[in-house]
Amino acid sequence: MTNATQPHATAAYLGLAIGDALGATVEFMTPREIAAQYGVHKDLIGGGWLKLRPGQVTDDTTMALALGASILSAGRVDADAAARAFDTWMRGKPVDIGATVRRGLLAFRKTGVAKTPLSEHDAGNGAAMRVLPVALATLRLAEADVRAACRAQAHITHNNPLSDAATETLALMVRDALLGADKLALLHQRAHPLARLHPEFTFRATRQRQNPSGYIVETMQAVFQAFFDTDTFEDCLIDVVNRGGDADTTGAIAGMLAGAVYGPAGIPRRWLHGLDVATRNACEMQARELLEISA
Ligand code: MN
Ligand code: MN
Repeated sequence: MTNATQPHATAAYLGLAIGDALGATVEFMTPREIAAQYGVHKDLIGGGWLKLRPGQVTDDTTMALALGASILSAGRVDADAAARAFDTWMRGKPVDIGATVRRGLLAFRKTGVAKTPLSEHDAGNGAAMRVLPVALATLRLAEADVRAACRAQAHITHNNPLSDAATETLALMVRDALLGADKLALLHQRAHPLARLHPEFTFRATRQRQNPSGYIVETMQAVFQAFFDTDTFEDCLIDVVNRGGDADTTGAIAGMLAGAVYGPAGIPRRWLHGLDVATRNACEMQARELLEISA
């Protein structure tokens, strides 16, 4: 832990929510459609296919908060507690929910087993998008234990090697950043090793992956390009969401990484103040309390 760990953890959580709220406006649009309608999309204006209020977030943030709440009440990452929290979340009629998440939670409701069978097909980004509270709660654990905790929460709905690899990599990138690693270290110690282990994740240095789908490989390629090719929180998020596609989720994941690296000073005031107030408070509270239980 450094003096910057706490503020950067808070910025990562706010980044997740801001990226989600920013991207949701243009989710499922193409870059061409976004350009025609908005020029460059760069403000928290709501709308989109979900008809959101300005600053409102979607499942990416609310699932992370549900997971975080389960970790705080259990005192650790616990698959059963997380599955119950997700189930309660689903009963609350969230504004959006992924198909794999819904299928996994309906199965949990039926069987009570908080683990879905291995699937070669379910390589969606739904487990990766909600992993942040695990990274915070496990900050002082050994890397193998961080990876195990990531998989425990992931496998409630997504049990797939590519999803696992990405989810663990993202949590470890956040952890490294909170412990002081810079972007070059994250590139060489996390992003490149992921692509060596699973060549699907290989990405170019500059903008290539447009219109990324919810497939974890396309999501990660867009996030990595935007994150490593820009120098500020704001530029990173604007770059990634204007690619369209699963823009709320690429925005959420990029925002989490960028927040962890650049810290609170990097977050534009118009985005911080534009974010839904209850969401902002919940993110700030969980970031603080999750780091406390990591101690
Ligand atoms: Mn969403
Ligand atoms: Mn999405």
